[in-house]
Amino acid sequence: MKNDTGSEPKFKTKTSAGAEPALMELFVDCLRDIYWAENHLVKTLPKMIKSATSQKLADTIQNHLEETVEHVSRLEVIFDLLGLEAIAKKCDAMEGLAKEGEGIIESTDSGTATRDVGIILASQKVEHYEIATYGGLVQLATTLGLDEVAEILAQTLNEEKLADELLTEVAENDVNYKAADEA
Ligand code: ZN
Ligand code: FE
Ligand code: FE
Repeated sequence: MKNDTGSEPKFKTKTSAGAEPALMELFVDCLRDIYWAENHLVKTLPKMIKSATSQKLADTIQNHLEETVEHVSRLEVIFDLLGLEAIAKKCDAMEGLAKEGEGIIESTDSGTATRDVGIILASQKVEHYEIATYGGLVQLATTLGLDEVAEILAQTLNEEKLADELLTEVAENDVNYKAADEA
């Protein structure tokens, strides 16, 4: 996390001055929420990778872990652009989604494709939460006239969408039919 540089906020808005301080506040609040969420994922994804049996699934989540580290850095760039300190605010949703993922690991046997299916389901719930969040944030940044910020957020949004698609592919091509055989 970076310190406040003390520099003037670089954001400019299209609408008249003071027209949207509440909207800006909401936007920053959502940034702090997803900043917490992304940091939490950096801590929790390694357990998902270790628990996966399919090498393809492990590789897919490993790649996304590396992207997630990048998502954290991008948010720090955004805080910096806005002249704000990178402060995280606990995201209850991501805490809950991560707990669900752990619960799936605890309730399935290690080395089974059934556990892999559970890991994919839990991971896709996480991706969908992030897609919803970044989708909303891109729109909000655009509304606030923060075009550079919107572009950075859109990069992450695309990676979250791609991660979701790759997880679907692993499920369809690799894991789901093995799990059906197990049953
Ligand atoms: Zn992310
Ligand atoms: Fe949240
Ligand atoms: Fe993600």
